[in-house]
Amino acid sequence: MTRFADFAALGRRLEATAGRLDKRRLVARFLAAVEPDEVALAVAFLTAKPFPTSDPRVLGVRGLPRGVPERGGPPLTLTDVGAAFAGVAEATGAGSRRAREERLTELAGRASGEEREFLGRIIGGELRTGVSGGLVLEAIAEAAQADLEAVRRAALFLGDLSAVAALARAGGAAALAGASPRPFVPLLPMLAEIATGFDDVLRAHGGRTALEFKYDGARVQVHREGERVGIWTRRLSDVTRSLPDVVAVARGLAGAPFILDGEVVALDASGRPLPFQELMRRFRRVHGVEALVREMPLALHFFDCLMVDGRPLIDAPYAERWEALARVTGGRHLAERAIVDSVEAAQAFHARATAAGHEGVMAKDLASPYEPGGRGKRWFKLKAAETVDCVIIAADRGSGRRVGWLSNYHLAVRDGDGFADVGKTFKGLTDAQFTAMTERLRALALDDDGYTVRVRPEVVVEVEYNEIQRSPTYPSGLALRFARIARLREDKAPGQATTLDELRALYERQFATKGRAG
Ligand code: AMP
Repeated sequence: MTRFADFAALGRRLEATAGRLDKRRLVARFLAAVEPDEVALAVAFLTAKPFPTSDPRVLGVRGLPRGVPERGGPPLTLTDVGAAFAGVAEATGAGSRRAREERLTELAGRASGEEREFLGRIIGGELRTGVSGGLVLEAIAEAAQADLEAVRRAALFLGDLSAVAALARAGGAAALAGASPRPFVPLLPMLAEIATGFDDVLRAHGGRTALEFKYDGARVQVHREGERVGIWTRRLSDVTRSLPDVVAVARGLAGAPFILDGEVVALDASGRPLPFQELMRRFRRVHGVEALVREMPLALHFFDCLMVDGRPLIDAPYAERWEALARVTGGRHLAERAIVDSVEAAQAFHARATAAGHEGVMAKDLASPYEPGGRGKRWFKLKAAETVDCVIIAADRGSGRRVGWLSNYHLAVRDGDGFADVGKTFKGLTDAQFTAMTERLRALALDDDGYTVRVRPEVVVEVEYNEIQRSPTYPSGLALRFARIARLREDKAPGQATTLDELRALYERQFATKGRAG
């Protein structure tokens, strides 16, 4: 049995150790030394969690009670702490507050000052030892003498570092290699690289590629086993409760247990797609969901199948996964698709997609496996980028990697004789350009509150955006979503930048192809 005092001592040493490799070695040694049935808890505690990630229990308390006298007794072990946390989490109903308080008081009474400190940090969710999930993952590999890639892959499928560590400890490299996706453990979605031309795409995909409409909605991953359905967003938040209509669709499909990947788009009463902002209202709604389901129906477009009949498909080629998807869906709720082998055919499909009001197309390599979380040349996105010319009217000081630079630029369009804020961005410049821009803006400074430097409006930049949104915060009433500097427009004077009226017209034009909320 490992004493909790050893964990606290490890925490202290980690605090005092600066090097990443040294930290990793300390964690690996600790993980190799604990009992096999303590590994999962050790990993949870190292990542400042009272329970492993896949354990749905929550403590529901903020900290240890203060001023509890030390009572001595046998030393606390990791297992004792785990059991005390479980007791706290499981206390429910009448008198539960008192029961929780008692469990915590008892726990505190058995702990030394240093142990209390680390118990408090776990409860508070921050261990402050500079140990990230990534470092724990590396330490698990080191402790099990397993291949780091195998550990990473297992972590993707199990979704829980504690489970990975327990598997590595129990079965070593072979068990890790055998880990595979499971229903209700969401996988990171595969991502796409931007491509500008179909010739590059066809070259990268060996002369043939699968094109799909790129729908401008939100990513959903739909899992089903039996009658149970789970839905996750791109960032792996669970939105099952907000989307009963998607749940109903999933229950009507074949091939469960399955995992499908797709995009949902919100529609207006006439069936035209609504802006992203509106769709987010659907995702956030947890009360009165039914009313919103009627008001804002969703269109579902599945484009991948990661498991069918309980069989993982992520290593199968795209073409085979699509066949499985067609079988599961019976051909309904599919993304519009064409396989092309010429630039002309690709352009025709792209024109069809944009004419139908979609953002552009995705191009997918027919032979490629599904790479969770991966972004590369297997999937490309091709959009008709929209740009406007904005003037930089202020800049925020950078932090982290951008310290020393003015790196977050306030973008404005012309409004009469003045300028109106329509967004901010720190995207699109190279390091050298940041440096040069910082100098240039400092020379134009009007005032500086220590964080934001307001500047004379002289620098014009071409800004790419994804959508123009209504803005409750900017007096202009409009904001650029996903603004990114495409290039500096040295050739343009501020007086030639886009005007607010023009931006309003662009905003309105979006509704030629998109629906409008009521
Ligand atoms: P982006 O967000 O611009 O990087 O584009 C990638 C996103 O496009 C994905 O995460 C999906 O949410 C969305 N998308 C829309 N249609 C498709 C499709 N047919 N295949 C893959 N992703 C799609």
